[in-house]
Amino acid sequence: MTRLRCQSGGREVSLPGSLHDYHVHTYLCGHAIGSAEEYVLAAIAAGLDEIGFAEHVPLYWLPVRERDPEIAMPEERFEEYVRTVLDLRASYPEIRILIGVEADYIPGFEEALDSLLAPYPWDYVYGSVHYVDGWGFDNPAYAGSYSEWDVTELYARYFELVCAAARTGLFDIIGHLDVIKKWGHKPPVVPEKLYRSVAAELSRCNVVVEANTAGYRKPVGELYPSAPLLRCLLDAGIELSLGSDAHAPGEVGSGFERALAELRQAGCASLVRFERRNRTYVPLPKAR
Ligand code: ZN
Ligand code: FE
Ligand code: FE
Ligand code: ZN
Repeated sequence: MTRLRCQSGGREVSLPGSLHDYHVHTYLCGHAIGSAEEYVLAAIAAGLDEIGFAEHVPLYWLPVRERDPEIAMPEERFEEYVRTVLDLRASYPEIRILIGVEADYIPGFEEALDSLLAPYPWDYVYGSVHYVDGWGFDNPAYAGSYSEWDVTELYARYFELVCAAARTGLFDIIGHLDVIKKWGHKPPVVPEKLYRSVAAELSRCNVVVEANTAGYRKPVGELYPSAPLLRCLLDAGIELSLGSDAHAPGEVGSGFERALAELRQAGCASLVRFERRNRTYVPLPKAR
């Protein structure tokens, strides 16, 4: 029995089954607050069974002097990040603590990423698309450039990159699958055909897709992925994991009740559980 304490309202609910949050950041990335230990304590307080870290990977595709310390952790602290999380396992046996990373997909830099990640014992690696042809669309500083695009074409290009990321085989989980909608820009009609082909391609690549609750806290106000996209994924047999994309300890497990209700509604019955990049499955916690 999992007791999920709602961070926002202070309301408490009980959820049978096991529950994880596989997507949290720490102060190391320069735009989040809280130490790894504070996230572990928040996860225990929220009644989670597993907490998984997914810090932003160093900006491996840029020369060191061009790397903005407020976008991702510096490379010289990468090892310390992994060590800190692994050390916490011994201190908090009451919760499973997983070591992961959120890696940007940048076409042409696959080998650089592969060798950067190789030395560490990952439980999972996220592949996230935060850049469309060099444009960091999810960064508030550059969000103005949406006006330069036809949104339907932008979605097509964005999802082409997501599929290319999946095809590299470098990633276990695709992070915030439709984050391109973050600021509320949507094609005039739901791109059903695009979503079907994305789901088919991700299924062929055997990647897990993350249900990411950060979208609830953004202007779009929705789960990543959206309901129509989620339906296509489940139809294609894709497995899901769950993450809050917390950038503060108080956001651990944020929006989970709402997300679980959406997943249930869509017919999702289980979540993926990772260990050293191997998968098992746990039943989706039931509603009260
Ligand atoms: Zn971040
Ligand atoms: Fe991200
Ligand atoms: Fe993230
Ligand atoms: Zn993220």
